[in-house]
Formats: sequence, structure tokens, C-alpha cells
Amino acid sequence: MSRPKDPQPSTCRRSNITAQPCTTRACINVASKVALSLDESVDPCQDFYEFACGGWEESNLLPSGESRWSGFNALQQSNHAIMKNVLELNTTQNNSVAEKKAKIFYESCIDLEAINKRGAQPLLTMLEKVGGWPVLNNWDESSFDFNATIQQYFPYSIYPFFSIGVNTDSKHSNSNIVIVGESGLSLGTRDFYVNKTIEDDKILHAYLDYMTEVATLLGAKDRNITRFRMKEVLELEKKLAIISLPLEEMRNEEKNYHRMVLADLQDLAPAVDWSNLVPELFLKLANETVGTNEPVITFSRQYLRNFSDIVYQTPKRVLGNYFGWRFVHSFVSALGQPFLEALNKFHKVQYGSNMNCVERWRRCLNTVDSVLGLAVGRLFVQKKFDKTSKSSAEEMVREIKASFQKNLPKTSWMDPVTRKKASEKCSAVEDMIGFDDKILNITYVNEKYKNLIVDPNKGHFEHHVSVVRYITVKELKHLRKPVKRKEWSITPPTVNAYYSPTKNIIVFPAGILQPPFYSSNFPKSINYGGIGIVVGHELTHGFDDQGRQYDLNGNLNNWWQKDTLAKFKKKAECMVEQYGSFNFGGAQVNGVLTLGENIADNGGVRLAYNAYQEWKKANGSLETQLPSLNYTHDQLFFISFAQLWCSVSTPQFRKHQVLVDMHSPPKARVIGTLSNFEEFSKAFSCPKGSPMNPAKKCKVW
Ligand SMILES: [Zn+2]
Repeated sequence: MSRPKDPQPSTCRRSNITAQPCTTRACINVASKVALSLDESVDPCQDFYEFACGGWEESNLLPSGESRWSGFNALQQSNHAIMKNVLELNTTQNNSVAEKKAKIFYESCIDLEAINKRGAQPLLTMLEKVGGWPVLNNWDESSFDFNATIQQYFPYSIYPFFSIGVNTDSKHSNSNIVIVGESGLSLGTRDFYVNKTIEDDKILHAYLDYMTEVATLLGAKDRNITRFRMKEVLELEKKLAIISLPLEEMRNEEKNYHRMVLADLQDLAPAVDWSNLVPELFLKLANETVGTNEPVITFSRQYLRNFSDIVYQTPKRVLGNYFGWRFVHSFVSALGQPFLEALNKFHKVQYGSNMNCVERWRRCLNTVDSVLGLAVGRLFVQKKFDKTSKSSAEEMVREIKASFQKNLPKTSWMDPVTRKKASEKCSAVEDMIGFDDKILNITYVNEKYKNLIVDPNKGHFEHHVSVVRYITVKELKHLRKPVKRKEWSITPPTVNAYYSPTKNIIVFPAGILQPPFYSSNFPKSINYGGIGIVVGHELTHGFDDQGRQYDLNGNLNNWWQKDTLAKFKKKAECMVEQYGSFNFGGAQVNGVLTLGENIADNGGVRLAYNAYQEWKKANGSLETQLPSLNYTHDQLFFISFAQLWCSVSTPQFRKHQVLVDMHSPPKARVIGTLSNFEEFSKAFSCPKGSPMNPAKKCKVW
């Protein structure tokens, strides 16, 4: 990781700042953090990522157990540390019922000794209830019924051949609807299976080892036969992978959206008894009546049409083993050490890191946060949330939206009608910032989790199962409920943000409204280059290749004039090619898969930069000068942005990321975005034709 420090090249441009620097502790802290992350031996016009992050990379080794590490992870970890303290406080006084549930769940999760003592028994007992697993014992083929098995798996949200759920109808965003889709693959996406063989591909090989090991731990006797049976399962998964839609094709929702009624599924996918299974699922789990005329949508019609043939051609034993494997795989992480070892061995090949090095409490907290995050959210925000950050973020959203509106007249490629629609859509974007005030109301939170049963007399495995069932039922029960536009689906400590196309809303939880993204003590250049860019990024998602398909009411509904749409696609194609040419550390970026995120990154930087210039026009003389950093504030804006992406990762992680992640790798996010932005080149006086100031620039917004 170590890089020799070259003498500073003559091309490194710095400016002579003469104003008195700020010497408060906050200023000194942020200045030293920025300075330590830089590698000033690198010419910023050659490789801005290395310039901004070289120092950070040298001083941040990958923490053991992690496959990647960045400021995002560090902040998430510190948020989780706060939650850990809250959950481990030795008192249950003043805790809400929901908080107590979180505590019980957490305590049973960290008690690995108790989990180890119970061995495989909890899973074996459950497996028996859902029809057993052929690979484990003398299995009676005549007792296997495809549809009955599907039905038994429903309460656990395990869908080996197709998925079924409830979500907002993309064409009627005020209502929820039944959505039927692909099953999802154990390894994530089809790329891990298609054109790969177990013999030649390390990941498939390790996956088969993992399957065999888990089956053996559960009692399968002959290892060779077990391996053979698991290989059959893997071959079946491969067939399902082949008929799955590539991730990049899923982005075209206009094309993929198909609405029908439940009865139509019978012709489409005859292997499943839809007319009986689905009504029973809703009645049993959600107490909702669903008939054969129930509207259903799918984004995976071709897949649904094809999987029945695979079912018909597969022997019952293989089907039974596949069902069982999907069930077992989804619960392995709730078992004890031998199972975790098997999982870890596979994880090492997949991601190149050793999960055993991650402290148990961190894994438990991830689950508590994702399931009971709102229950403990009150305690988190009381401890950590700086109330001024909410009003500052609200102000930032107003400025960034104004910046988008101001930029629109400059988009000469748009016709006036489409431009007006874009402006209306931007005005209609609402925001949610910090956290839902309702979580401060104990009665509200208790009510929210009232159907989640966490019995203190039961063990971690049962709690895990209980959580899965709770989530399943909760989703199904949404079917007849109105869509709540402002319902939080992200917990307060989360270090992330999102745009929802069906709600036309941007969301920034408390977790991200902190340093390094934002602080009331930071100079504005750092805040605009931090949270400002995050806000700009999320807003631009409403106008990326996917978001642009939705109108101001959140409906999948074309509002683009034909010619303007053709021009948009041409502009987007430029980014597809640009990012598709990036290959950092042996990982080739997929320009189509990452297009939406790249459009959002590019738009986000421009919007935040312009908003910052507006702020300077009004308040320029008030900008704080940082000590010992000889950079202009425009330069600091770009440094702040780039340093959000300083990260280290394993080669395995990088290869995995480009196949599954819609975000470009960190270095591509910095290089791609800034080399497209003429104001960046001006700020650093990058000569025309230098790597960071190429003649060909891509720009959508
Ligand atoms: Zn994004």
C-alpha cells in the first residue's frame, strides 16, 4: 500500500491565501483531517483521486474482517457503537416495550455460547415442519408436492422459484399492489453462474464446498453423495440464472412493467397453482381476501414464462434439495460457530475477508438496526443528533433545488414542454430529513412493533425466525392500505440517503447529517462539497435514466417529447462509454448498470457547486479560512467531495462490486465526475488534454 513520496511536481497548483485562518478546535480538526488524507506528491490534474486520497489510503489499512473500508463505514460503525451502548445499558427502566424487544433480540444474538450449545437442532426442527431436506435422510419422493412446499415456505419469505410481495404500483403510485417477480439467486446475480463452471470458477467451487459442508453439519452422511446432490442443486440454480434478467436490463421499467390479474399467471407460469396459493397466502398471513381477479404486476414476464419448463424437467429429488437448500441458506447466519465457519470460508473466497474478525456485536447490531431501528432510533437521536443540522439540511435542499431550476434554461437540448415538466417535477420533490418525529412518541413505536413477538424465554434462532415472519406479514398487510408518501423506510442511524421515484421524495437520515458530510463548524466549501453534493445527487436521481421514467406524482408515465428523449439518451450514452472504459484494480466498470448513479454524481456536483457560488455571492467574505491548508475554497469544495470516497478494499470485493453494485467504484466516481466538470479544471488550472481535463466531456444535467 505504501507509495514513495516524490518531490512535489511543478504542476501541483496551489494558491496564495492571505486571509487570517480560523484557529478554533473544529477548524484545526477538519484542516488536519483534509491535509492528512491528501497526497500532495500527486498532480491533481493527473489523478485527482490519488491526490485527494493518497494519504488516507496510506494511513488506513483495511480493518481485519472488512472487505472494504471508507469514511461511510467508519461513521456507520461509530453510530452503531452508540447504539451498542444504549442497548447494553444495565437498566430496563424508562425503556419502551419496543426498546425492550430490541434489547432481548440483541442480547440473545451476542450470546454465541448459548447459540453454540443448541447446535443444529433449531433449524432441523423447522426443516421437518416444512417438508424436510432430501439430502439429509431417507426421503420419500412420493410425499413431495411442489405447490405444498411453496406454501410452507411463504411465511419465511423464501421464494425458490419466484417472489411475491406488496409494493407501490409504479403506474398508480397512490396504491399498493401484488408484485410477482424472479426468485433472486443465492449468489446475487446471474453473472456469477452464467458461462462459469464449478471446476474453473473459484466462487462456484467455494459455493459448492459451502453447501456440502452445511448439509454435512446438518447430518448428511456420505460426503461424496452429498456433494453430488448439492451439485445438482447448483446446476438447477444455473438454469434459473440463465433465464433471469441481467441487472442492467431491469433499469428499463417502462418496458418491463406488465399488469395483469392473478388468474393470468396460470397461463404464464403453469407449474404454480396461483389461484389457490396466493389467496391462501394473503388470508393466512395478512387476513386479506384476494381473488383470481386481483391485479398483479410483474417486471419479469419472460422469466415467469420460462421457469415452469425448468420445474417440469427437474427430478423431484433435485427440486426438494433445492427448496431445502434455499431454506437452510437463509438461516445459517442464525446458527452457531461450525455453521458460521462454513459461511466464513465461502465469504473469504467471495469477498477476501475473514468475517470471524468482525466482533459479534457488530453483526448483531446490523440486524437490530435493520429490523428494530425505529425502536432504538429515539435513543440514538437523543444522544447524537445535532438539531441545527436539520434546518441546515432543509436550507441546503432549498438551495440545491433552486440550483436545478436555474440550470434548466441552460439545457438547450431540451424542448420547452419537457423542460417545463422537468421544472414542475423538481418543484414537486419533497424531502424528509433527520428522522420521523413520531419515533419520540413511545406509544407510537410500541404500536408499530406490537406484532413482533420476541419472547425472552426463547433463543436467538427463534427470535430470528420471528423477525422474518414479522417482516413478511407486515409487507403483505400493506396491500389494502394507502401509500404513505412520507413514511420512513430508513432508520435514523443509517449513513445513506435515497430518492424514491414512486414517491418523488428525497430522504436524508440523521446518520448522514454529521462529519465528514456536514458540521455547523465546517467552512461552507466543505459542507457544500459534502452534504450539498449528497443532496444534489439524490435530487438528480429523479432525472436519471430510471427516475426520468416517473412523473411528478411518482407514476411510471412518459413526460418526455420524443426528440428530447432521444437527445437525453445520446447524452447518457456518452457516460455509458466513459464509465464503461474504467478499470481500476482489475475490476471493469459496467457503464449501463451504473448509469443512473453516474448521472446523479455528475448532476450532484454541478448543482452543489453552483449553489455554493450563489452562497459566496451573498456571503463570500464570511467564509472561514482553514489553517495550514493553502487551497482556495473552490479547491476545497472538490477535495471535500473526493475525500468522501477515499476507500480501501480487497481485490475480491472490487470484482464482486462491479457485478452487483449500481454505484461505480469510488475512484471512478471521483475521476469520472470531476473530469467532466469544467469548473473543476478551472479551480485546479488543469491544462486541456490532461487526464482530469479531457477534451471530450460527458454532461447530462
Ligand atoms: Zn444514488
